[in-house]
Amino acid sequence: MIGKVFLVGAGPGDPKLLTVRAHELVSRCDVLAHDELVTDAILAIAPRHAERIRVGRRARGVRHHDGRIHPLVIERALAGRDVVRLKGGDPMIFGRGGEEVEELRAAGVPFEVVPGITAALGAAASLAFPLTHRDIADRVTIRTAHRKGGAASSAETLVFYMGLSSLSSLTAGLIAEGHAPSTPALVVSNATRKSQRHVLATLSTIARRARSARLEAPAILFVGHAVATAAAVAAPVRLLRTA
Ligand code: SAH
Repeated sequence: MIGKVFLVGAGPGDPKLLTVRAHELVSRCDVLAHDELVTDAILAIAPRHAERIRVGRRARGVRHHDGRIHPLVIERALAGRDVVRLKGGDPMIFGRGGEEVEELRAAGVPFEVVPGITAALGAAASLAFPLTHRDIADRVTIRTAHRKGGAASSAETLVFYMGLSSLSSLTAGLIAEGHAPSTPALVVSNATRKSQRHVLATLSTIARRARSARLEAPAILFVGHAVATAAAVAAPVRLLRTA
């Protein structure tokens, strides 16, 4: 039996900001692979007998770690052990979660992604300032100071909250602003709930498809090339294919 790999967000550092799922997984783990961002207070939650694997570019003697998942993680899973791969903040925000998911799929290792509170949310909450405000800020941008390759605006992921009812005008506006009509677009309704459904299409077709699939609020729209990889990991039963 192959083990499972859990890609788990550890949040910004305070153990109280772990999700219940993350706490449950860490407190019972057998193998824990973590990077430097994960605080000692969180590592202390793991059982004493758990094997700990330090992962990350700054981990000593780890020459192979070029942004790929640590080979030991796959090795342990193939040997039948469950691995908790703990990452600072959220695995899907500057956490290389996408690359790790691709590799796990290629290796045929089952996995689960557990979100975490990303640094920006932790910092804003601790200083009690809003990231959006009806009178001051209608958007928030999460960017990296580093960039791999050239700067291209098509390299961003846009996220729209509260957009379901205005989907047609919203997407038409984006196309008018210069976004390619073929840009992948994804609407997720009731995310993480039993009633979750989603439609993956393009900027030019998403409004029509979401309507015909009768997606309901609350829903969130994602636009950008990164969302196209959602098709590969989504539960097939929930996936409504693009034509
Ligand atoms: N996946 C992480 C981000 C990893 S990139 C997340 O979702 O938060 C690493 C960068 O995240 C750091 O250079 C820093 O800019 C930011 N970061 C992570 N934890 C932080 C913390 N507790 N306080 C402030 N910044 C933090």
